[in-house]
Amino acid sequence: MMKRCHRPINEQPRFGKFLPGQHKPLMAMIEITDRCNLSCPVCFSNSIHSGQDIPVDKVRTYLEQLLEITETPIPIQISGGEPTVHHSLLKIIAAAKCLGYRNIEIVTNGIKISKDPEMLHKLKAEGLTAVYLQFDGLKKDTYISIRGEDLTEVRQKSMKPFARFSCAVHLQSRLRVA
Ligand code: SF4
Repeated sequence: MMKRCHRPINEQPRFGKFLPGQHKPLMAMIEITDRCNLSCPVCFSNSIHSGQDIPVDKVRTYLEQLLEITETPIPIQISGGEPTVHHSLLKIIAAAKCLGYRNIEIVTNGIKISKDPEMLHKLKAEGLTAVYLQFDGLKKDTYISIRGEDLTEVRQKSMKPFARFSCAVHLQSRLRVA
């Protein structure tokens, strides 16, 4: 019979204890920058406009170290901050593909893709397989409350390239409970 945990949820550790050699992650999120082109009041990654990017070589080293643990490539999500503001995002995706990673996703607010739809095509050509796109709804008030500015037009524009370039997209919503 499965042993139940009786500790209240808010007293349980937020993250499980990872023991190399005993546990293997099923997916990994890699934060390649702490810069972002938004300033959401709800940001949990403390992103800022003028932060630091992690150099490509360092990201490659992280990916190699991850492979030593997992032995086979696992799905990865490239995040930040906002990963599309990293100047070497294409090289990072190419490096991941070269190391054997086959499920390579980015988590994005869609601003850069809405302004430059070809960017999605280039990312796909390097090995990107899917995008987690921030999508909080279609109402101006919702965006102003959650993201600090009206992103309704950005959201509509950022959706179109996914069909055009046949790229998988997962919509990621943030709920604000009153
Ligand atoms: S888009 Fe994401 S990373 Fe950027 S400020 Fe908003 S919550 Fe933070």
